Amino acid sequence: MAKLLIFGGTFDPVHNGHLLTARAAMNRLQAQRVVFVPANTSPHKLSTPHCSALPQHRLAMLQLAVGDDPAMEVSAVELLRPPPSYTVDTLAILRRDRPGDTLILLVGADQLPALNTWKEIDTILATTPIAILPRPGFEVPNKPPGNFGDDMWKKVIGGVLKIPQYSISATAIRRAIAQGQPVSDQIPEAVMAYIRNHRLYQK
Ligand code: ATP
Repeated sequence: MAKLLIFGGTFDPVHNGHLLTARAAMNRLQAQRVVFVPANTSPHKLSTPHCSALPQHRLAMLQLAVGDDPAMEVSAVELLRPPPSYTVDTLAILRRDRPGDTLILLVGADQLPALNTWKEIDTILATTPIAILPRPGFEVPNKPPGNFGDDMWKKVIGGVLKIPQYSISATAIRRAIAQGQPVSDQIPEAVMAYIRNHRLYQK
């Protein structure tokens, strides 16, 4: 029986902010593995031109970033279903496929103000412990968003992890690449090589 951290996102591209916080969260929570789950199209980003690399590229970059590290895994579960993918459904599938394992959901602090809009957030919180990754520039709101109950909100903010924070974002990386600026201190070398070879994020 393993403790697994489930880390969803667009990963467009995966960057050191994802990798370093995931590793720190694993240490803090004494988890055996983190499972990165790239979204087919994030339902939270449908209305923005946020996600620009095709799913197969985002998946490939994650696989390169993870390499042969036994503590890191990439799941294509959301890419096998038509978008949009919802966390509640993904967790149900992962739980079905990994009976006996404990799943903990990892969520960046920037997602907190919109957490009340997630499909069946009550079910998610009732079935899955949640751990929040602090992120520079994204304070943990002291009031629950929308119709969130106080008790449920307490549960969420009780999961904020005391780990180092990294000021790295995929949006800034995409913009920098388009402008020809260096980003090699923010993403793994193999991911940078893949971006170059496939001419991703260029104007
Ligand atoms: P974008 O800039 O395109 O919004 P992003 O850098 O936030 O991208 P995502 O793939 O959207 O990356 O993030 C996946 C998950 O990782 C989300 O829960 C997000 O909040 C979290 N995350 C991303 N970057 C960081 C970071 N630097 N520190 C902590 N959490 C992060």
